[in-house]
Amino acid sequence: MDKRGPSNVKRVAKKPLKCPCPYKCGKEMPPLQFLTHLTHCRRNYVRKNPHDIVKCPYNSTHCITTVEFELHARMCAPSAERSITTT
Ligand SMILES: [Zn+2]
Ligand SMILES: [Zn+2]
Repeated sequence: MDKRGPSNVKRVAKKPLKCPCPYKCGKEMPPLQFLTHLTHCRRNYVRKNPHDIVKCPYNSTHCITTVEFELHARMCAPSAERSITTT
C-alpha cells in the first residue's frame, strides 16, 4: 500500500501582487481589479486634471494623459520608430 498523491501537483506560492495606480490616487490593487480601477480612476483623473491631457504625437485623434504618454507613445509609434529589429 503505497498510495501517494500525484507528485506533479505543485503548489505555487501566490504573492499578493499589487499594482500601484498610475493616476496618483495612491491606491494599490491586484491586477484583476486593476483594469476596472484604471477605467474609473482615469475618468476621475481626466476630470480633475484637464490640463494633463495631451495629444498623441502620432495620431491627433488620440487624447492621452501625461501619465500614460510614455507608454502610449511607445505603443503608438510607427514601427519604423520602434527600435525593434525585424529580420
Ligand atoms: Zn487610481
Ligand atoms: Zn496614439
